[in-house]
Amino acid sequence: MEEGRLERLRHSASHIMAEAVQDLFPGTKLAIGPATAEGFYYDFDRTEPFTPEDLERVEARMREIVSGDYPFACKVVGREEALAFFEERGEDYKVELIGATPAEEPLSFYEHDHFIDFCKGPHVARTGDVRAFKLLSVAGAYWRGDEHNKQLQRIYGTAFETQAELEDYLARLEEAKKRDHRRLGRDLDLFSIQEQSGPGLIFWHPKGAMIRKLIEDFWRDEHIKRDYHFAYTPHIASIELWHQSGHTSNYKDSMFSPIEVEGQQYMLKPMNCPFHIQIFRSHLRSYRDLPFRLAELGTVYRYERSGVLHGMLRVRGFTQDDAHIFCTPDQAKAEIIKVIDLVFFMMRAFGYEDFDVELSVRGPSDRAKYLGGDEDWAYAEAVLAEAMEEKGVPYKRMEGEAKFYGPAIDVKLMDSLGRPWQGPTIQFDFNLPQRLDVTYIGDDGKEHYVRMIHRAIIGSMERFVGGLIEHYGGAFPLWLSPVQALILPIADRHHEYAHEVKRRLQAESFRVEVDARNEKTGYKIREAQLQKIPYMLVIGDREVAAGAVAARLRDGSDLGAVPIADLMGRMKEEARIPSSGA
Ligand SMILES: [Zn+2]
Ligand SMILES: [Zn+2]
Repeated sequence: MEEGRLERLRHSASHIMAEAVQDLFPGTKLAIGPATAEGFYYDFDRTEPFTPEDLERVEARMREIVSGDYPFACKVVGREEALAFFEERGEDYKVELIGATPAEEPLSFYEHDHFIDFCKGPHVARTGDVRAFKLLSVAGAYWRGDEHNKQLQRIYGTAFETQAELEDYLARLEEAKKRDHRRLGRDLDLFSIQEQSGPGLIFWHPKGAMIRKLIEDFWRDEHIKRDYHFAYTPHIASIELWHQSGHTSNYKDSMFSPIEVEGQQYMLKPMNCPFHIQIFRSHLRSYRDLPFRLAELGTVYRYERSGVLHGMLRVRGFTQDDAHIFCTPDQAKAEIIKVIDLVFFMMRAFGYEDFDVELSVRGPSDRAKYLGGDEDWAYAEAVLAEAMEEKGVPYKRMEGEAKFYGPAIDVKLMDSLGRPWQGPTIQFDFNLPQRLDVTYIGDDGKEHYVRMIHRAIIGSMERFVGGLIEHYGGAFPLWLSPVQALILPIADRHHEYAHEVKRRLQAESFRVEVDARNEKTGYKIREAQLQKIPYMLVIGDREVAAGAVAARLRDGSDLGAVPIADLMGRMKEEARIPSSGA
């Protein structure tokens, strides 16, 4: 496809939609209507809310405009003429936009049928080119994205070159809705957010908590194999610590207000770094003690506006799988390589196969906003780049994307629907050690600043599990399934044997439940399938007599009668936790 073609098509669809809206709902004012990565939208100012029926009518009117096959025409206009045109129509937002355009910039109108918009373009040739489109939803949106401004109504839609592409997109959208972690989180009873406790705070229910425990066990084992030490640190600390670490000057907007205790101010921690530094500094360290790798599943609190909170993905309290590696400059590259190995091993263990890796570095023109000298930066950027090159990891260099204290590797995970998720990060830091005076004694007997690597692999436990729910569509692999097998006795006389099977499976550490309710077996099986339980073990007279179970899988397949020993062998094989061999 020609470059920008899809964007032109979608932007043209937004003009057609705006015409349709104004035809059907006279007096509606226009704000802006751009193309987006997935489609297009237009923001409208109208008192009455748009209903789903309204969207259908708009869509029908759009089809008429498309059938009319009107040409899109561009005309350059003078500032006076442009302002007069929209003032006369009461289009306040357009008047404001024209007013905000630099005087030297030429102004253009795009016109089709009887609709004229203030617009840079470009557009497709004719309205008839917009064949495959669909309106999707309405949402509130503030003028210029500022919550102090008036709230407008944003109608979202999408458009594609062909009907087949559109249908494919709509099918994926439908699948994404079914997998929405908020919906599955409720249906599978994994987690909740409690109105009474406040927004953005996650309650892990027993099944969600089991998934988290399994992830944490796996995570700890892998860190032990890789010579990490663990730490537990407090959730709050005196404001003095945050002054010293620079958080109250650089990070204050993301922190909760202080808590006063006995005349002393405390703050909830937004990061674990200063705590790990305190542990490192509790001893005099020599170069022989390095690298020192300190890891913690550390719960942090960050203030996010309530408007941006979203299920488990944007929250106010979350647990990071944080680690800080303290090392000498010479050790940095080898340490980064080890972290890269751990990143890809762990992400593959959770079924992620496609990654987008970015190296965030300083921009060429904005050097002033970064802490530290050119030499330190050049060294740190080179270390990260060389580590990825040695591991053969393809990456994109993101100029100007580095944090103020150092460059970073950011890994995006592509899920089973091809959507990107924020994943592991590895940050190189030579600034905090200087600021907080974190040193070791070198082989020259002198004091040197350590280098620090901040790294999180899971990232946020909440966001990661939210992502996993959608990635697996709630059907977790056996090793992560909170309930691995559900035993279904057909009649009361099978209960004793059902509990015996349960005990045998539990003795092998399987997570098993018995559904002893007085319901039809078919009904219980359907329910277990909806709960995405991997194994359903039905027990009747024949199974009791044979010392077997009638095993079914959640995908509907029927394994027939399986002796208990065979079943356990099969499950053990399938539930094997991925091993790194590190
Ligand atoms: Zn436009
Ligand atoms: Zn850190």
